[in-house]
Amino acid sequence: MSQEDNPLRAKAEEVYARLLEAYGEPQWQPGQNALDTLIGTILSANTNDVNSGRAFRRLKERFDDGWDAVRVAPLDDIKHVIRTAGMYNQKAPHIVGALERVRQDWGDYSLEHLAETPVDEALAYLTSLPGVGHKTASIVLLFCFNKGAFPVDTHVQRITQRLGVSRRNAGPEQIKRIWEELMPADTYYALHLDLIRHGRETCLARGPRCEACPLQDLCDYYAQRGEWG
Ligand code: SF4
Repeated sequence: MSQEDNPLRAKAEEVYARLLEAYGEPQWQPGQNALDTLIGTILSANTNDVNSGRAFRRLKERFDDGWDAVRVAPLDDIKHVIRTAGMYNQKAPHIVGALERVRQDWGDYSLEHLAETPVDEALAYLTSLPGVGHKTASIVLLFCFNKGAFPVDTHVQRITQRLGVSRRNAGPEQIKRIWEELMPADTYYALHLDLIRHGRETCLARGPRCEACPLQDLCDYYAQRGEWG
């Protein structure tokens, strides 16, 4: 099937174009530290940005000698410092385990070499670290290096399912693959951020504001409203 004949690709492109029109095109900027982003994203699981940001800042302040000080610290100290992020019994050992692996594999506390690593290899490496799944790995690769990895969070998952770009019950990894197949890598940064903004402002988890939505005529949920649970 040619690109022009693929209705799902045409729909994905139209979604992207309308999101850009509604929310603008966020521009990627270099300079975000990859290891900091990794630890910050581990902390952000199942909590909001305020709580995880506070935990990250406290971690950096308490262990101001750097990541080696975190790696060798008593686990209970780390749990105490990051408690605002929740799930600290899992997150603390994941952070220490990830730091141990990075130091062991690369000799220091840096992931900047991933800039030169092919995206599949970089994704495989990051997801081999404790507590790092596809979403966290893709966030590091996209935000720190602008690499072609599309992160799928709860907003992206919900909107993709509702639009019918994926099946209604598709999981995050399936949705990641779908967007990566349908859209070119240089759209991922703006697409990801605009979908999240759409999820926060319009396509809310409970009570989506369909009457104000620029994607209404493209949306399966809207066309079939009443049939969705
Ligand atoms: S029409 Fe409603 S359900 Fe569909 S994308 Fe817009 S806000 Fe979400």
